[in-house]
Amino acid sequence: MSRLVDRFGRTHDNLRISVTDRCNIRCVYCMPESVEFLPKAGILSFEEIERIARVAASLGVTKLRITGGEPLVRSSLWILIERLTAIDGIRDIGLTTNGILLADQARKLYDAGLRRLNVSLDTLDPGRFLAMTRRTGLEDVLAGIEAAHAAGFERIKLNAVAIKGFSEPDLVPLAKFAREKGLELRFIEYMPLDAKDAWERSKVLLMDEILDTLRREIGPLSPVAGDDPHAPATLFAYDDGIGRLGFIASVSHPFCRSCNRVRITADGKLRNCLFAVDEIDLRALIRAGADDAKLARAFVDSVADKWEGHEINTARFIKPDRLMHSIGG
Ligand code: SAM
Ligand code: SF4
Repeated sequence: MSRLVDRFGRTHDNLRISVTDRCNIRCVYCMPESVEFLPKAGILSFEEIERIARVAASLGVTKLRITGGEPLVRSSLWILIERLTAIDGIRDIGLTTNGILLADQARKLYDAGLRRLNVSLDTLDPGRFLAMTRRTGLEDVLAGIEAAHAAGFERIKLNAVAIKGFSEPDLVPLAKFAREKGLELRFIEYMPLDAKDAWERSKVLLMDEILDTLRREIGPLSPVAGDDPHAPATLFAYDDGIGRLGFIASVSHPFCRSCNRVRITADGKLRNCLFAVDEIDLRALIRAGADDAKLARAFVDSVADKWEGHEINTARFIKPDRLMHSIGG
């Protein structure tokens, strides 16, 4: 039975684990060009992550998602996946990656037990990829997706952040590509966790605006229910039966009411919301010799303190000090 129920009746069974704050590209909406990364000793070891996941599982967590930074820059990540897969109670492990290193690692990750994969890709145009990520690498991402298919991954999702004034030319090519390749494309509304405080509400390309374009350019789309009532994406299916489309519409359609997630940063801070301003330092507890009961208490306390919602759309919104890459999106 879950012990992670908050004041609003939300049960938390989903833990997002950031395994690094480092990244091999520099998406403009996520991190600055030059960053001071955490020292290696500050990052949780695989043993520490596994222990935290075990404690979380004992409290009712059944789903894990590995993220970062870029998780595939963490050496031998598949070993961690193997260990997490073996934890009693963990039924589902996912990974979110920029795909650059995926071609090399897809098979090892699959063999380690990973089955759910989200690949982030905002554009299919090399020049626009460079503008968005400040790096080259589009071909590597595409090769990574092919390799993941070949390794056996079945339901690969494609994540694309949509920024008004930039992303409009990418909407239709990405949607067509996803339909052709059998990928579920999810557009993510641009969120205020970027490096340069460049976020403004007027730069968010909203779900309804994207839907209008795709309906006009590709064809009718109708709302559909997903398999998981807690999944953040609002889903649509093409009326011709070829493919589905999702939106993580954190700004225009916040999904806080059904949130079931807690997060661990790469340096072991427990966060009860992507936009949380308070954290509990699990790394400090672990390294000071805390027992599992103390770690469990930290989870229970964190969830008990969770607020109702992120308030992006109100004057009360407080932008967290951390940027997306150091939280784990
Ligand atoms: N490096 C991996 C990747 O890009 O998939 C995993 C970490 S990344 C922080 C996780 C997701 O957050 C990505 O899909 C990325 O596009 C998204 N993201 C990053 N910054 C964002 C922002 N300011 N608004 C919305 N989504 C953002
Ligand atoms: Fe790296 Fe992912 Fe952030 Fe892009 S979104 S800079 S790939 S961590």
